[in-house]
Amino acid sequence: MRNVVIIGSGPAGYTAAIYTARALLEPLVIAGYQAGGQLMLTTEVENFPGFPEGIQGPELMERMRQQAERFGAEILLKDATAVDFSTWPYRVQVGSTWVEAKTVIIATGARARMLGVPGEREWLGRGVSTCATCDGAFFRDQVVGVVGGGDSAIEEALFLTRFASRVYVIHRRDKLRASKIMQDRAFRNPKIAFLWNTVVEAVHGEPSKGVTGVTLRDTRTDERREFPLDGLFVAIGHIPNTDLFRGQVELDERGYIVVDNRLRTNRPGVFAAGDVVDYVYRQAITAAGMGCMAAIEAERYLEALEHTDHRP
Ligand code: NAP
Repeated sequence: MRNVVIIGSGPAGYTAAIYTARALLEPLVIAGYQAGGQLMLTTEVENFPGFPEGIQGPELMERMRQQAERFGAEILLKDATAVDFSTWPYRVQVGSTWVEAKTVIIATGARARMLGVPGEREWLGRGVSTCATCDGAFFRDQVVGVVGGGDSAIEEALFLTRFASRVYVIHRRDKLRASKIMQDRAFRNPKIAFLWNTVVEAVHGEPSKGVTGVTLRDTRTDERREFPLDGLFVAIGHIPNTDLFRGQVELDERGYIVVDNRLRTNRPGVFAAGDVVDYVYRQAITAAGMGCMAAIEAERYLEALEHTDHRP
């Protein structure tokens, strides 16, 4: 039986692995076939403390993995396929085997909702982005688009006005969903323009330049036009990766795992950290911070188990 099984291998999962490994708990990280999380989809990361020159997202994740392994974390490059938290010890299925665990840290993250149009995946990280905080500074004096009409889209658009010369908010309806105060700020900002009743149908680019433009369609007239842009930010919401945990831990109405301020789920000994619980900050550094918190909580929980006859 494992002391700690960590599901997920973004900044939260690997940080939890570093901490629990250094506490000699010999964690097992079920990292997934696509290990590394959302940072694997980014290029330059300039806001992770400790890297004044910036670091490539995949390299940062590789370093976190090495750091966890250095202290004895075992990393399995397979997906968790089911969990059973109804009885203790908890069980996590990986392919045809079930792993027993005294504690579990869920760090499966979230994924940005994507448009699913041609060119979007191809230019992701090369002009298409899902995070203005991360990538905005690469668009100094350039023209960018933001897709969406919610708080995220407006927040991204406002943030981007610090760098970009012009920001087009591309929204499928003629009304924003964002809160009134955010709308007012956006309407007052001279750098922001709105393309109402408009959807992006394709993203275009060139290998040497990255994104060069999009095809837009007016939803009322069905008219199509080519629109030049240097970057496109997709801000149409996020989807937490929690399908596996439905019915096993409490989720909120949006599907995020519900935790208290010590990252405890409603199951004793099951913790959750990073974007799988966080729809506000969504940063690598906040996810890493939560990974650390969950690890320390798991360690304390295991210590308490020692004094209670080894059962929760
Ligand atoms: P959201 O509120 O669900 O808004 C998503 C937006 O994307 C909507 O305007 C929606 O259009 C549009 N959209 C969805 N699918 C689309 C598609 N396939 N093609 C084109 N457009 C599409 O998501 P969010 O903005 O990420 O916000 C999530 C939650 O976090 C909200 O509760 C929000 O208030 C909160 N939040 C708060 C802040 C803040 O207070 N500072 C910042 C960020 C987020 P429709 O409007 O037509 O449905």
